[in-house]
Amino acid sequence: MTDINTQKSKPWYFKLHWQVLFALVAGVAFGWLAPAAAEGIGFLGDLFLRLLKMIIIPLIFTSLVSGVASLGSARSVGRVGIRTVLYYTASTTLAIAVGMALVNIIKPGTHLNFADAGSLPEGFSTTSSTLPEFLLRMVPDNIVSAMAAGDVLPVIVFALLFGLFVTRLNGPNVDSVQGLVDGVLEVIQALTLAIVKLAPVGIFALLAREVARSGPGIIWDLRYYFVTVGVGLLIHATVTLPIILFTFGGRNPARYGHAMAPAVATAFSTASSSATLPLSMDCSEKAGNRRGVTSFVLPLGATVNMDGTALYEAVAALTIAQMYGVALELPQQALVLLTALLASVGAAGIPMAGLVMLVVVLQAVGLPLEGIGTIIAVDRVLDMMRTATNVWSDLVGTAVVNRFEGQ
Ligand code: ASP
Repeated sequence: MTDINTQKSKPWYFKLHWQVLFALVAGVAFGWLAPAAAEGIGFLGDLFLRLLKMIIIPLIFTSLVSGVASLGSARSVGRVGIRTVLYYTASTTLAIAVGMALVNIIKPGTHLNFADAGSLPEGFSTTSSTLPEFLLRMVPDNIVSAMAAGDVLPVIVFALLFGLFVTRLNGPNVDSVQGLVDGVLEVIQALTLAIVKLAPVGIFALLAREVARSGPGIIWDLRYYFVTVGVGLLIHATVTLPIILFTFGGRNPARYGHAMAPAVATAFSTASSSATLPLSMDCSEKAGNRRGVTSFVLPLGATVNMDGTALYEAVAALTIAQMYGVALELPQQALVLLTALLASVGAAGIPMAGLVMLVVVLQAVGLPLEGIGTIIAVDRVLDMMRTATNVWSDLVGTAVVNRFEGQ
């Protein structure tokens, strides 16, 4: 509360979202005009990223345990859980549908020549996993090593179970465990607030280096594919999600989007939903979403709800099919939809995770993995765009679940 009040009394250029928007524009310009200098200041961006990564595991664990415990009972956890999963599934399916419609209209693959196809980056075919393997990986056999490795999904599963059993037990010992977790969360959130102040510098440095490295030439060769993914993400982020936000979340999309700008811009420049989590939680609470809902929906969403990634998986797979002249019938397109959904759930909230998971989709419909070699050139920029969409969808979902919990 105090934060909102102090933010209001400050001149506009002290407000984080304006600083972040300025950093976005200035970062692009700097990277373009002074590539060597941009490369030189890149470490400032890495520093920002490391600070964010430093707090991810304790933040996920404490916020999920505290979120689940504050919901009070297994029944409320179940209710919020079902609503959350419903939102995730519906929004991700809509995103894939938009992508698939566009790829069938624009047909980007027909503008690509597989004779020029690059080769498969090393290690790709070994990085995918089957569904049973994926399910097994969700349950940690050693929670300490999962935490040490920064393996988010098993930590989430453990935290959810831990929180659930906190709600089931009573007594002073359990109360003090809950008190401890809540206390650690408060400290981590205070630390987050301090790190968040550095966002404009971090975003500026990361983006400047990215622009200096990529340049516009690469995008030109793959322009049809790039535009298909880009327009799909844009439609999902500016039409589909705002409609959901307005209809089911009861929020003004422009105002809510404005308040979420620091998180979305951080997602764009870091290409990591997980690294953005501290900022998303901060923005969500400042926008009035309940702490219990924020602490539950966002850590889960940062890992499993990836609308942008799912849209990209479907477009990339169908583009590769078109490139190789493989006609996919309706049942196979349905299989692409399903595997794109699963791949987006399985993708970690880190850069390039979606590209790695593309292997799963391609294998499911028997497409050549070498196709990845062609589209990889523009992956970083698309990664930034899909990550921003992923985070925006998580934040819209928080508003939707928050509204239903209020009733
Ligand atoms: N980088 C994305 C994220 O963190 C995942 C992906 O590669 O699609 O949300």
